[in-house]
Amino acid sequence: MYSSEAKGGKAIVLKSRDEILIMQEANQIVAETLVLVSKSVNPGISTWDLDRIAEDYCKRKKALPAFKGYRGFPGSLCVSINEEVVHGIPSRKRKLRKGDILSIDFGVCYKGYYGDSAISLAVDKIGVLEHKLLQVTEESLNKAIEKVIVGNRISDISGAVQIVVEKNGFSVVRQFVGHGIGTALHEGPEIPNFLQSDPSPRLLPGMVLAIEPMVNMGTYRVKVLRDGWTVVTADGKPSAHFEHSVAVTEQGPLVLSSRLNMQ
Ligand code: MG
Ligand code: MG
Repeated sequence: MYSSEAKGGKAIVLKSRDEILIMQEANQIVAETLVLVSKSVNPGISTWDLDRIAEDYCKRKKALPAFKGYRGFPGSLCVSINEEVVHGIPSRKRKLRKGDILSIDFGVCYKGYYGDSAISLAVDKIGVLEHKLLQVTEESLNKAIEKVIVGNRISDISGAVQIVVEKNGFSVVRQFVGHGIGTALHEGPEIPNFLQSDPSPRLLPGMVLAIEPMVNMGTYRVKVLRDGWTVVTADGKPSAHFEHSVAVTEQGPLVLSSRLNMQ
């Protein structure tokens, strides 16, 4: 979740092996939190309740919720339902309903380093097309991660997402992009989910990238609601979002926020 800033951009900071290990700890707290919150995703629970679960767990792990207070964001989680793309604000009034799709984005700061990851999931039973949207979005992230190879370019990641998404008849959001991550939540480079004509940076060992396809069922166009945060699709059709923080290593991609082996 990062609004693309024109020209200049933020610096790309390479991390040492030790720093990557700390970032893995941070991202594992994020991953554990997402798994924990997922278990409570059911019709009737409010997005505020989910936010409490995340914040409590994060505090137990001695990590700071990274989004709370970020440019004034009021929650620990970003919770975005159906046509909401990203940056939905947790609310006591907003209760999940059967058939919703819910995107949960979470970040922490731990030992001075950030972790950032997102998942989208079904609330009870959802429609066939909604199910496909979730599957395709996750697949586009997985294909993008396969491109995290030293010597590739950021555009290889962008292109991998775009191909999977458009082949399946969906669209990628342009206005928000992935990002480098480290001692700041948002570092360079920007990681668009679509190909651009400008040459993009080459991947170097020690880069850590938060790759986060935001995929819409209809138009790629989005708008921001009057709360100043919630991003929704322009046509009101559903959207999904998956994100992993991934280190570039000589041995290939290291998914720091992996949920494999978690129950
Ligand atoms: Mg992010
Ligand atoms: Mg995120």
